[in-house]
This record gives sequence, C-alpha cells and structure tokens, in this order.
Amino acid sequence: MVRFTVLASGSKGNSSIVSCESGGGGSSNSTKVLVDAGLSCRELFRRMKLVGEDPKTLDAILVTHEHQDHINGLAVTARKLGIPVYFTEATHRAWVRQVSPQKRITYAEWAQQYREQKQAAAGRSEIELKSVDAGCDLASENSPNVQEADSSEFVCDSLPVGRSELAPDSSPDPSPDPARLPGVSYFRAGETFSIGELSISPFTIPHDAADPVGFVFSAEGVRLAVATDLGYVPPNVQAQLRRCDLIMIESNHDLEMLRDGPYPWSVKQRVLSRVGHLSNDATSAFLEQAYDGTATYLILAHLSESNNLPELARLAAERALLSKPSLLANRLFLARQDEPLAPVCF
Ligand SMILES: [Zn+2]
Ligand SMILES: [Zn+2]
Repeated sequence: MVRFTVLASGSKGNSSIVSCESGGGGSSNSTKVLVDAGLSCRELFRRMKLVGEDPKTLDAILVTHEHQDHINGLAVTARKLGIPVYFTEATHRAWVRQVSPQKRITYAEWAQQYREQKQAAAGRSEIELKSVDAGCDLASENSPNVQEADSSEFVCDSLPVGRSELAPDSSPDPSPDPARLPGVSYFRAGETFSIGELSISPFTIPHDAADPVGFVFSAEGVRLAVATDLGYVPPNVQAQLRRCDLIMIESNHDLEMLRDGPYPWSVKQRVLSRVGHLSNDATSAFLEQAYDGTATYLILAHLSESNNLPELARLAAERALLSKPSLLANRLFLARQDEPLAPVCF
C-alpha cells in the first residue's frame, strides 16, 4: 500500500508523508519519509498522531528547499528521531548558513577583543609559561589566527566574517551546533535514488532558493508527484507530472487578491515572478494545457491565506479540468494550513 498524507501546506509550514508498505503479515517492509519539516517538531508529531502515523516509524526527511516554511522543525525533528536528512548539496549549504549564528563585527571591534584576550591569556599563563617549554612561535602569537592559544574558542568566535570557515573544528564545542543532524545524504535533481521501497526522482523547479526541487515518488507501480513553490511550470516539470496517480501542485494566489492585497510591492513582485509561486490561473493553465489527466487525485497546495480563497482555487481548477475526460469528480482536494488532509491510499 502506498499512502500520501499532507500534514500542512501554506506559507506558515509545509510537510507531507509518503509511505509504502509491501508484503503482508509479519514480513512486511515499510518505508516512510517526511517531505519537508516546516512545522515545529511538536506540531509535526501532533499532526502525525492525528492521522495515525507514528513518528518513530519515519525513515528519513527530504527537503525541497531551504525556505523557512519548509525547514522550521527540521533539525529538532531529525535529531529527536535520529534519522537522516536528504538535501541537494546546495540546499544543505544554504540551510547551514541560515541556521548558523553569524557573529558579524567590525575589524576594529575584533582587534580590540583580540588585544584584550591576548592580555588576559598572557596574565593567566605567565606562571605556566615559565615552567613549560617556551617553544612558542612568536610569529603565530602576532598573527590574528592564533589557534595554539588556549583561547582558541574566543579567537575563532571573534574572527572577522569569512575567517571562521578556515578555523579547524577540532576543538570541542560545548555549545550545541544548530546545524547538527544525525545524518546527511545528498541527491541531485535529475538523478533517481531509493530509500527502502521508495524510488525518488527529484526535479528542478523555478523558485528563488539555492537549488529547489520537486519530487516524484514511485512504489508498487504508483507514482506520486509533489510540486509546490514554483514560479511557472516549465517543460521539465510538465514531463515529471505525466503518468502520475497523484499530483500535489501549488495554487498559491489569486492574481487580483494579490495585486489588491496587503503585501508590500516588492513581495508582490517576488511572488509574481518566474521564481515565485503559481497563481490559480497559472495552475489552471497547466491543468488545461499540459496535464495529461491521468491522476486519480489532485491536491491543490500552498494556498496563500492572505491572497487566496479555497473556493477560488477550487473553482479555477475545476473549470480547467472540465475539458479533461477524467474521473476526477470528487478527487480534487485542497491542502490546508491548519490541519492535515485525510491520507490518500493506493
Ligand atoms: Zn513554501
Ligand atoms: Zn519557497
């Protein structure tokens, strides 16, 4: 059985579960992955329980891109469950940059801190230095990058921006690293990989993130596609959305509501851009012109709470689907921000 459950969808958090159970009785194989972790760990677990999913049975977390609404609970959830996170390398790097505290100070501040630290260190170690082999390298003492000093933590912390990347991370770090994960695996758009019983094909989507992707999941002859956060539907995405049994596609905003709505002009421009989000009209155009009509279930997702109404998104999609001789009748769902959707099973 293949199961797809949307836990949440929208600009305040996105997360879905894809699971596959094969075999029967006691010898069944099960694979379960979380696609994005945009809610807090606590809220993700709460919603999983609501839909009858046990968080402990998750095998991995897959990340589409590093925007906050897709990674909010990522590190805590992965650590709590001890499961690996799958990213593209660029997305992982962007995420690490995003969650790592960057101490930005001016050179003058840094120099002052360095002088104070050096004086303090000299005072502390005066007696020790007299008794210990004084083979200390004077040049390194005069250099800003003094890793030998017992104050290496301070020196590392205080390096001007960019230098800290050069510092060896051999010194034990007492503070928890916000970017620490139990395991990290890289995938690349266009290269299919497997996790247990699930075959996963990531594909590039046009969106303003480091290396954003959508996914097609295949198991037991069932194909499920997830494509949210994209400015338009380019040919490579259209190709991925063919022959699918379920498609979750974004229907983010109503054009008029966005234009007249509360967002600042710059944000409106971003949403409307080729690397922003799909409007109801854009999604309808895809459904009318490029969609092959094969999906049993269509889920409209990532609806804006400020710039869309569920009825508008549904109406636009239904109108577009009128031209398709499909069996969609009651199988068009709208993913919600505030509660999970009932699981879809194959
Ligand atoms: Zn998003
Ligand atoms: Zn995004």
